[in-house]
Amino acid sequence: MKYVSTRGKAPVLAFDEVLLAGLARDGGLYVPETWPQFSAAEIRAMRGLPYAELAARVMAPFTAGCLTEAEMKAMATEAYAHFTHPAVAPLKQIGHNQWVLELFHGPTIAFKDYALQLVGRLFDHVLKQRGERVMVVGATSGDTGSAAIEACRDRAAVDIVILHPLGRVSDVQRRQMTSVLSDNVRNLAVEGTFDDCQDLVKALFNDLAYRDAMKLSAVNSINWARVMAQIAYYFAAAVALGAPDVTVNFAVPTGNFGNVFAGYAARRMGLPIERLVVGSNRNDILTRFFDSGVMKAEGVVPTLSPSMDIQVSSNFERLVFEYVARDGGQVERLMTEFRHSGTMTMPDGAWAAMRTLFESHRFDDQGTLDLMKKLSRLTGEILDPHSAIGVGAGLKAELRRDAPLIALATAHPAKFPDAVMAAMGHRPALPAHMADLPHRPERLDTIAADAGRIKDYVSAFARARGRA
Ligand SMILES: *Cc1c(COP(=O)(O)O)cnc(C)c1O
Repeated sequence: MKYVSTRGKAPVLAFDEVLLAGLARDGGLYVPETWPQFSAAEIRAMRGLPYAELAARVMAPFTAGCLTEAEMKAMATEAYAHFTHPAVAPLKQIGHNQWVLELFHGPTIAFKDYALQLVGRLFDHVLKQRGERVMVVGATSGDTGSAAIEACRDRAAVDIVILHPLGRVSDVQRRQMTSVLSDNVRNLAVEGTFDDCQDLVKALFNDLAYRDAMKLSAVNSINWARVMAQIAYYFAAAVALGAPDVTVNFAVPTGNFGNVFAGYAARRMGLPIERLVVGSNRNDILTRFFDSGVMKAEGVVPTLSPSMDIQVSSNFERLVFEYVARDGGQVERLMTEFRHSGTMTMPDGAWAAMRTLFESHRFDDQGTLDLMKKLSRLTGEILDPHSAIGVGAGLKAELRRDAPLIALATAHPAKFPDAVMAAMGHRPALPAHMADLPHRPERLDTIAADAGRIKDYVSAFARARGRA
C-alpha cells in the first residue's frame, strides 16, 4: 500500500515512511492511495475472531509491503494483551437496539490506548528495522500525553518528553503520566497554559536543524497509523451485531475528527454503516458545519468534556479530500481559505453528499450533566461526559429502526470524577488496576515556558540516553 497527501504535492510514501513522517511535506495529511475492500463473505468470516486477530486482518492491507498480517497479528496480540476486558472493546446494551462500545479498557482508560498501544509497537518495530531512534515530543491537555507515555515506555528505539501545563491537568491525568518512571520517559510541567505547551512544541519542530539533530517525532492524532488502528473496533462492533447482514449506525463524541474518520474509512472498506452521528460540546464547529456547509472557527471555551475543546478538527481535511473527489489542489485552496479567513465553504454538492452520511448534535455542559443523569437512571450506566455526548447525539438522530445504534464510549467515568460528581453526587472509583494511582511515586520537572530552556532540556535528556 502506498500513501498520498491530501494536498497532492508531497511524495507518495510507503507505510513505514508515513508512520514516521506524521504530517506530509506539503502541509497535507497522508491517506491510502486506494481503500482496501472487504467483501461480505470476508466480513462474515471475521465473526468470532478474537479482537487482536480481527484487528490484524482489518489493518493488514494498509501495512502490506512493509509488515505482513502475521507480524501485525503478533503486534496486535501484544498491544491488547493487557487490556482489562477479555473482549478488549465490549458492547453493552443500553436500549432496545442501542449499544455502547466501551473503549476504555486500556492502560490509561481512554480510547486513545486502542491506537497508541499499537502505534508504539509499530514505531519500535519499524525503527529497529531501519536502525534508527526517535525522540517523541508532544504537548497534552490531559488524555493524549498519558496514552502516548504508556505506548512508548521502555521501547528501545523511542524516547519521549511530554509537556503539560503546570497545575492545569487533573490529578488523575497528571499521575497517569508522572508515575511512569521508565528511563526513556520525561514529564515537563510548563509554567503556562496548554496553548503555551503547544506553541513550545511547534517551536522545537520548526527549528529544522534542531529537529533533525534530535530526530524529533510526534504521535499526534493526524498520524495515519492511529486512524488505521481505530478502524478495527468499528469492524469488531458491527460484526458482533451481525454485519454484513445487519446495517449499523455509529455515534461518536468528536474533537479532532480522528475517531469518526476511522468509521468513515470502515464504511469505504465495505462495512455496512448507514449513518455516522457526530457529538460535540459547546465547541460546536462540526455541528455548525454539518448544519450549514460552512466551517467557521470561533474561540474555544472550556467545558466538562475537555478532550473535545477544540477549535479546528485537524483530521477533517481527510474527509474534505474524499468529498472533493480526491482533488489535492482543491483541498489546498479550501484549507488556505480557512487559514486566512477562519471560514471554509464546501462546494454544495460535496456538503449535500456528506449530509447523506453524517449528522451532528451539540450539548452544552448542563445538557451533558442532564444526559449523564438520565442515562444512569434508565440503564444504570455511569458514562463520562464525552461518552454521554456521543450517546446523546445518537439518540437525537432519526435512525432506521432495524439498524442498531452503536455509541462509542471514549473514556472511563473515573477519568472525569468532577463531572460525575456534579451529575451524580458521588465520585466514581478508579478501576482495580489503577486503584493505587494516588500513592504511586511521581517524577516530573518544572520548567519555564521558554523554547530555549526546553531545547536544552531535551538535548540533555538525549545525551543521557546515549545519543550524540
Ligand atoms: C481524544 C478524545 C476525544 C476526541 O477524539 P477525536 O479523535 O479527536 O475526535 C473524545 N473523547 C475522549 C475521552 C478523548 O480522549
